[in-house]
Amino acid sequence: KAKKLGQGFYQYYVSDMEAQLSRRLEMEADLHNAIKQQQFVLHYQPQVDRNRQIVGVEALLRWQHPTKGLIPPLNFIPLAEETGLITKIGEWVLQTACRQSKIWQDAGLPPLLVAVNLSARQFHQQDLLTVISETIKESGIDPQNLVLEITETIAMKDADYTIQVLQALQSMGVQIALDDFGIGYSSLIYLKRFPINSLKIDRSFIQDIHTNSEGSAIARAILALAKNLNHLVVAEGVETAEQFAFLQGLECDHMQGYLFSKPLPVDEITDVLVKSKL
Ligand code: C2E
Ligand code: MG
Ligand code: MG
Ligand code: MG
Repeated sequence: KAKKLGQGFYQYYVSDMEAQLSRRLEMEADLHNAIKQQQFVLHYQPQVDRNRQIVGVEALLRWQHPTKGLIPPLNFIPLAEETGLITKIGEWVLQTACRQSKIWQDAGLPPLLVAVNLSARQFHQQDLLTVISETIKESGIDPQNLVLEITETIAMKDADYTIQVLQALQSMGVQIALDDFGIGYSSLIYLKRFPINSLKIDRSFIQDIHTNSEGSAIARAILALAKNLNHLVVAEGVETAEQFAFLQGLECDHMQGYLFSKPLPVDEITDVLVKSKL
């Protein structure tokens, strides 16, 4: 296709590809370095119940780059996933979140759910169960307070494998949330068979929950489905008081979004948790 557009375009195209490749290689080297230099940080976003009480937090990864500033996860996780570096990073996330959970517990805060996202590669990693059980043991947390989030797309990739792994995780006492629910490919037959604790309704359905009837119809349907399957429902991306009121009306269990708080650095979330303590 490039050829047909003439020599000039072709050269432009090649050099563009070269530039892309070198950016990628540079970022890959940077990522290796980030692991060595411990440039990752976790921010934590509160999850509230219908009374606006904080019931948990989701740990969200950021890369504190020495020259580029704070880099959001979607800008580097895909490369980390491709190169396999996500395994190391993911272990760090799990360990850091579990240790933090224990720090909050030891400080006398009420029991809090701490949710950690797992990537596809991590979920299919051979020693996943060992890594998780050892991290729980090492940190001394109650496994009931740990929630592992996987997307429905990851779960559906090899559904029989997923069921086995989720069963093993649940027998350790860990909770499972199906993240970004509604936007991936999902089979309702498997949804019924997956041993999970909660469904997180994707933000895109919350956005237009009260602006049009189709938007609210989908949110309603997901809530009804989840309740029938005895799963807790968490709404993601709640930004307005109207959305919150609507979800309260639908008896949505937990909610997360900028209305309540953005993801916060550990010192700030700790202040919030201390202040919200009953
Ligand atoms: P996610 O797990 O669905 O996390 C929720 C994302 O929505 C977060 O983005 C959060 O900041 C954002 N969010 C929360 N409330 C609102 C809201 O009211 N409005 C809007 N517009 N956005 C909201 P973030 O932190 O950029 O993370 C993006 C994604 O990166 C996460 O989506 C998750 O898939 C992935 N991710 C984050 N941390 C990790 C990690 O430690 N490991 C892995 N494997 N993936 C991670
Ligand atoms: Mg998540
Ligand atoms: Mg999500
Ligand atoms: Mg999402």
